[in-house]
Amino acid sequence: MTLFGRPKLPKIPEDPKAKNKIIYAVVVVLLAVVALISGRLHMEYKPASGGKQADAPFQVHVLDIGQGDSILVIADGHAMLVDGGEPAAAPRILRYLQEKGISKLDYVAATHAHADHIGGLAEVIKAYPPKNIIEPVCAGELLPVTSTYEAYLDAAEGSGARFRALRSGDRFKVGGARITVLAPDTDTAQDLNNLSLVLRVQYGDCTCLLTGDMEMPEEEQILAHKYDLHADFLKVGHHGSESSCSEAFLAAVRPDYAAISCGKDNDYGHPHKETLNRLHAYTDKVYVTAKQGDIVFRYDPATGKRSIATDKTTS
Ligand SMILES: [Zn+2]
Repeated sequence: MTLFGRPKLPKIPEDPKAKNKIIYAVVVVLLAVVALISGRLHMEYKPASGGKQADAPFQVHVLDIGQGDSILVIADGHAMLVDGGEPAAAPRILRYLQEKGISKLDYVAATHAHADHIGGLAEVIKAYPPKNIIEPVCAGELLPVTSTYEAYLDAAEGSGARFRALRSGDRFKVGGARITVLAPDTDTAQDLNNLSLVLRVQYGDCTCLLTGDMEMPEEEQILAHKYDLHADFLKVGHHGSESSCSEAFLAAVRPDYAAISCGKDNDYGHPHKETLNRLHAYTDKVYVTAKQGDIVFRYDPATGKRSIATDKTTS
């Protein structure tokens, strides 16, 4: 039979196609073998940096910025920076945020108005205008009259952020992390350390406590509330000073991991031996930025795995 006068084409035999498939399969297998031998199979090859690797959805980074505090919380790609170290720490913090691929901050928290916590915040707020800036309620007469504090206030007020003073019981969210303010209760404490903004950060069934420079008087205030204080990860109050982490507070927190932020050979003797001993009664996973550099706590709800990595050790 013909179509428009053209003779019917002979049926193309299937053999050549099948042959091609076999050759293709052999080539694929050979390539895979070569890749395996050279150790460059795609699954094993991951770039060391560049933020492309899947990371735990919840992370708390305690930055090594010398004497002071600066803590980055990341939850589902949303970020909050708690404190910004001394003014000299700003370049390090900005570099760190850049390295971690942070493009915006949902929250900046100033735990209290001392220079080793708010010093670097002015530069951070200018470079990363946050959506929200929070600080503790605080009586005006306690606030320092320093150029560092003025610079922080000017940056905060000029940033366009929602700027609020929070107290015990206030709540907010960063990504999937639910954050409760545990303290201060009122603005009537006698000193700034014990007016520190204390945050309980809950992500899935993992809890972290970020405590600023809280000392024992503020710990007692929190204990009086009968909050559930157990924490997988505790950012130890006031750089591990003797005046923080009472027996009663640690008995309520029962930390699995603890991180202390302080400078190498600092003038205050932080962290104090007694505080370390009290912490070691609950965990031997106590890390100090002065010794171990940046400390990163990770939690993955898919596996339930909690882990710590530092510049010098991993566990
Ligand atoms: Zn401090």
